[in-house]
Amino acid sequence: MSVATDILAEGKTKVLQATQQPEMLSVTFKDAATAFNGKKYQEIPGKGALNASISVLLFQLLQSHGIPTCFVQKGSHPSELIYSRLTMIPLEVVVRNYAYGSIVKRFALEEGTPFHKPLVEFFHKTSDDPQITEDLILEFNLVPTEGVLQTIKRLALQINEVFVPYFEACGIRCADFKLEFGLTKEGQVVLGDELSPDNFRLRDVQTGAVLDKDVFRLDLADLRETYQGLLTRLEAASQTLKTVSKIYTAEVYVHSRKNILNPESKAILEALQARGYSSLQTLSAGKRFTLKIEASSLVAAEQTLKQLAETVLSNPVIEDYELIFKN
Ligand code: 5GP
Repeated sequence: MSVATDILAEGKTKVLQATQQPEMLSVTFKDAATAFNGKKYQEIPGKGALNASISVLLFQLLQSHGIPTCFVQKGSHPSELIYSRLTMIPLEVVVRNYAYGSIVKRFALEEGTPFHKPLVEFFHKTSDDPQITEDLILEFNLVPTEGVLQTIKRLALQINEVFVPYFEACGIRCADFKLEFGLTKEGQVVLGDELSPDNFRLRDVQTGAVLDKDVFRLDLADLRETYQGLLTRLEAASQTLKTVSKIYTAEVYVHSRKNILNPESKAILEALQARGYSSLQTLSAGKRFTLKIEASSLVAAEQTLKQLAETVLSNPVIEDYELIFKN
């Protein structure tokens, strides 16, 4: 068990502490509820433990779908979690399925309007968290490479693909949520921060009741009762929900690396040129595999097929592969 030692940072709702294991971090969720950039503040006994418990449930759900997260284990008290240490990226990544909150104000939308497809918005984590474009994120070097930014966006959408049906099965509409990502020492992009109702907009499908921090922001209901009710619903669903698996169809196209002479391609090219197709300049012959795989999610299917393509279907020394999903 990791034991918390020195305080590394203290924010409005969490305390980060070192542990004896340098690669691990202790995170204690405070009982504080804040809104409007700290202008509204209240101590709500029990909130920290509820946010920690809900985060554990949702981190474990994502991990079971192959999404890399910072969550390692529960801590020594109910409001403490142990995370792997990451270098955090100073971005808030918001995924929206329905219009609520700041986007309603920014574009004068009708609250609750569904979007045609999930939207990803970025905000720069500074004093007033301004919205930021992908070009500006790269211009200000907020991420080390463009590839990291694309991975963040892809993971955010994959997380949404896990959350939407999960909450739906609990009778809850997942309207939007905010994520934060970090990098491991090896440069892998990993989900960090927390997955509590402080960061979500959740609505009961039947009654429209608000099940997230908007109850506090807008003085709609008792926050502790709302969060406790949400946790009870999620726990019940987690026990009864079997992982629904699906059949995914994918193609793996294996071809020789650029600049590597493939004898088969060379022989075909020469034979075709000898038959009069002298205008042919290059030719690259490859192998295409069509596969059907049963998996709990697209992410899990992708993980297995990538491993298969890298280790069995292709020779990584001389070949590259492309993986294309058909559903
Ligand atoms: P909006 O941009 O509409 O205010 O927020 C979109 C989503 O991100 C909401 O679910 C909201 O709770 C979450 N969110 C945005 N900014 C923050 C923030 O600074 N802290 C927390 N906890 N959540 C945020």
